Amino acid sequence: MTRRVSPLTLVIATVAALIGGGAVASPAAASPAPAPAPGGDAAVQQTVLRYDDSRAGEFQDAVAAGAAEWNAAVDNVELVPAEPGQRAEITVVATDGWPMATLGPVRPGGSATIWFGRQAVQQGHDTVRIAAHELGHNLGLPDVKPGPCSSLMSGSTGGVGCTNATPNRQERSRVEQLYGGGAAAQTPAAGTVVVDRP
Ligand SMILES: [Zn+2]
Repeated sequence: MTRRVSPLTLVIATVAALIGGGAVASPAAASPAPAPAPGGDAAVQQTVLRYDDSRAGEFQDAVAAGAAEWNAAVDNVELVPAEPGQRAEITVVATDGWPMATLGPVRPGGSATIWFGRQAVQQGHDTVRIAAHELGHNLGLPDVKPGPCSSLMSGSTGGVGCTNATPNRQERSRVEQLYGGGAAAQTPAAGTVVVDRP
């Protein structure tokens, strides 16, 4: 959708500015028109997102396993490890706090972070489930808490003994939807950070 500013609106805004109408939004505040999708082809195309686990410390294997869970579960997006020095959409950092993640859906060229908090691991939560859960946030899924172990996005409420790292049918279809339909149909990421504190 392209929003055009009519000449009349410009005149009104200018007059308002002249008379000191500070509450009137300036035309400059209007968001720029989105760039057209490259190629303009809405054919289903797999989105490839790179992740950088160079700062994931002892959780590198868990991150790879969590990414593999998503790759096995969905078709429209694939998570691949970034080569050294290569730009990554997803950066994983080991921390001493609670796990946190940027709420996506992160897009190619975008930026999302997972803070792989050791506090949840010390409480006994499964590292692969944590990785897949936080990746789920990057892919655009919010928490669904409380929830059963069969739900990936139920997170810690699935229980300390829960080792399920596989997204359920609803979680899979939501991600397929968020990454389906080609770039033109894709909504930008919210960019907020979700904290997985129990
Ligand atoms: Zn969460």
